[in-house]
Order: sequence, then structure tokens, then C-alpha cells
Amino acid sequence: MSADPIALARDLLRCPSVTPAEGGALAYLDKVLSGAGFTVHRIVSVEPGTDDVENLYARIGTEGPHLVLAGHTDVVPPGDEARWRHGPFAGDIVDGVLFGRGAVDMKGAIACKLAAVLDHLAANGGRPKGSISFLITGDEEGIAVNGTVKLLQWAAVLGEKFDHCILGEPTNPKDLGDMVKIGRRGSLNGTLIVTGTQGHVAYPALADNPVRRIVAIMAAVMAEPLDAGSAHFDPSNLEFTSVDVGNKTVNVIPSEARARFNIRFNDHHSHTSLRALVEARARTAAKGGHFRIEWEPSNADVFLTEPGPFVELVSSAIAEMTGRQPALSTSGGTSDARFIKNYCPVVEFGLVNATMHKIDECVATADLVALTAVYRRILDRYFGAGSGLPQ
Ligand SMILES: [Zn+2]
Repeated sequence: MSADPIALARDLLRCPSVTPAEGGALAYLDKVLSGAGFTVHRIVSVEPGTDDVENLYARIGTEGPHLVLAGHTDVVPPGDEARWRHGPFAGDIVDGVLFGRGAVDMKGAIACKLAAVLDHLAANGGRPKGSISFLITGDEEGIAVNGTVKLLQWAAVLGEKFDHCILGEPTNPKDLGDMVKIGRRGSLNGTLIVTGTQGHVAYPALADNPVRRIVAIMAAVMAEPLDAGSAHFDPSNLEFTSVDVGNKTVNVIPSEARARFNIRFNDHHSHTSLRALVEARARTAAKGGHFRIEWEPSNADVFLTEPGPFVELVSSAIAEMTGRQPALSTSGGTSDARFIKNYCPVVEFGLVNATMHKIDECVATADLVALTAVYRRILDRYFGAGSGLPQ
């Protein structure tokens, strides 16, 4: 009898694991994975000033190749529960649709991975021809301090080595099979601060209005694209998100103006090159006037998993099981793949993302069955002969 991804997903959805609460979700995975012969570790990560977060690492097999299935069981808050047609943690199934917070982001995909692995093991005498691990965090939707980063560091200390990873974020815009993510843009935040000299608005010659200068600098910084894009990425983009003077009066020239911005950048850039580029543009526009930029620390670097045998194995399994040739994309926000890429090549494939973080988040049960088939195909080929991957 094959494992049932719908029942597994439903059980997971009934665990109220809003970050940083474990909510019973990791305990549930622990039970299922231990029962299948995995060695399960549950690790509580602690950082002063943040909530403790529980994470899970489970492995079966001791040999290579070592395939890691990564994900998160934490979910964003449901919002106004009265607006949900079905309780966010009830796990209701109506007309072939399973409702609940985390249905697509991403307990559904974890359930599919689980079902695929159970079936793969059952068909192979209970052990993989190599190793399979689950790397599951409870801190992805929060500040991501006590999550995947620390779990990976913990595993490295243990001597764990990974060959490839599949992260189950919801990657498909519309239909299962639309899109695989093979990289993500980096993200960097900064604040442009211009100081001048406060004064009476009727005597501008006696003051130095920072608003004039900040407008000129903002225009210059935004005028040209930061680059023209690259083989797998859109052009890097800078967006101002807030402009603040905080002046309550109508007759005082303020002494300071601030503008916050975010940059989503591609593999033409690093944090260092972006800072240099933006500061150079600002300097030219400031014409010797005072300004400064405060850059926020960022752990969101750009990365790309170059198309090759692993990407090909995953995308051909998707094409085979869904009938769609997935686009190889680097679009969207950041994900925990940006941390995993420091340890092994990582690609992302999961459910349809149309309802993620929304009221009435839901997944078609047919998609759960289809995604399980995709993951199963990947496992069979990854651990089968002639996969073209390091064995
Ligand atoms: Zn997610």
C-alpha cells in the first residue's frame, strides 16, 4: 500500500505551528521518520534576544550520494480567522481541495516528500542506495536566525556532507510543473540620509534644504538600471520604499531627510559592488553636498545552481510526471536555498503558490498526488543507475 500524501498533509496542517511555535509538526515528522528507520535529531536553536526555535534533521543511509530534502514546518499567522471559509488549522477537504495555513507554503510539499520517500524505501528493501535526509526548520517565515543557517552549521559539525538538495518552496505560478527555481536574487537594504541646515522657509538663503538634495540623489540613483540582467537573471533593481522628513510645520526648512530603499540584485553584483555603484551615483548627484548611506547587514546573497545533470534530472522528472516543461527561474523573493547553496547545489520545486500567505490558503489534493509522483520519480532516478550524478 502506498503512502497517502493527502492524509500526511492534513495531519501536518492540523498542527498550529505559527513561527516560532513547533505546534506538534516536528513531533509528527519525528514519529513518521523514526518509524521508517531514519535517525532523527531535534535541535533547539537559541540566540539571545530571539525566540528559541526547534528544527529537525533526519537521515537514513550512511553512504553517498546524499540527497537532502529541505523545508520548513512553520507558517505565517492566519490573520483574521473569521474570514477563513474553513478553519486555518482544521484540515478540511472540500471538493478535492485541502484548506489550511501552510497547505502550499509548505507543509503540503513536505507531506509529498514524506510519501515519496516512504514509497521509494518500501520499493527498495527499506533503505536507499545512498542517503536521504530531511532538513526541516521551524524558523523560515520569521527572522530566520534560529533556522536553516544554524541547522546546517550543526550538521557540518557532525560531519554531514550533502551532494544535492531539493527545497520544497511553492515555485509554480499557476500549474504544477510551471517552474523550477535554480537560483535567487540577493537582497540589500539601505537608508539614504541627507543633512542640511534648518531655517525659516521665507529665508531659504539662510538655510540649506536637504529635501532638494535628496530628491536629486534619489533621481540619479534610480535613473539608469543597475545592470542589463544576465543569462539566468532579470536586471538588478533598486526601489525606494519610504521617504521621510517628519516635518510637522509649514514654515521650517528641515535639517534632515531620509529615504529607505531595497535592492534585488543578480549575479553581476555583490554587496560590495552594489554599495560602490550606488554611492558613486549619489556622490555625483550630491555635487559636493553632504549625504551618507547606512547599509543594513544582509544575509541574502545572490546564487545560481548552474544547469547541469542535477537540474536536468529534476526538470525532466517534472516534465515526465506533469506533462509540462518547467521554466528554470530565479524570480521572486529570497528563500532558505540561499543558505543551503553554501553546502551543496540546491533547486526548488513545490506546489502552486497562488494562495500562499493568503486567507483560505489551499491545495488541490490532485496536486499533492502529482507532486508526490514527481518527487518519487526524482528519488528513483537519483538513486538508480545511470543518473549521470556522482554516485
Ligand atoms: Zn515557504
